[in-house]
Amino acid sequence: MKCPVCEKAELKKGKIREIMFGTDLGEFPALICANCKESFTDEATTRQIEKAAKKKGIWGLGKTTKIAKAGNSIVVRIPKPIADFLRIKAGQEAFVHPEKDKLVVEAR
Ligand SMILES: [Zn+2]
Repeated sequence: MKCPVCEKAELKKGKIREIMFGTDLGEFPALICANCKESFTDEATTRQIEKAAKKKGIWGLGKTTKIAKAGNSIVVRIPKPIADFLRIKAGQEAFVHPEKDKLVVEAR
C-alpha cells in the first residue's frame, strides 16, 4: 500500500513509540512510510493506545479552554482534570513564558 500522505513510498510494517503529553505509552505495531515517516495504526492498535493512555491517567487531558480578560491581563482557565493530574491548586505561584508559539505554564 502506498503512503496516503506523500504518495511516494510503500508503507512497511514497523513499530512506533507513542508519546502522549510527554508520557511514554510504549511501542505499538504500525505501518510506516519510508519517505515521510508518517505512521498508521489499525483500529485494534488505536484502542490499545487509548487503553494505555487511560491506564496512565492521561486520556482526554487535552482540552479546549477559553481565554478570558481580567484587567490588563488575560486569564487561561485550566480544566479540573488537568489541574488534578498536575496537582496544581488555585493560589499557587506559576512561571509563565513563551516557547516558540506556545505558552508554557510551570506551576511551582
Ligand atoms: Zn509518506
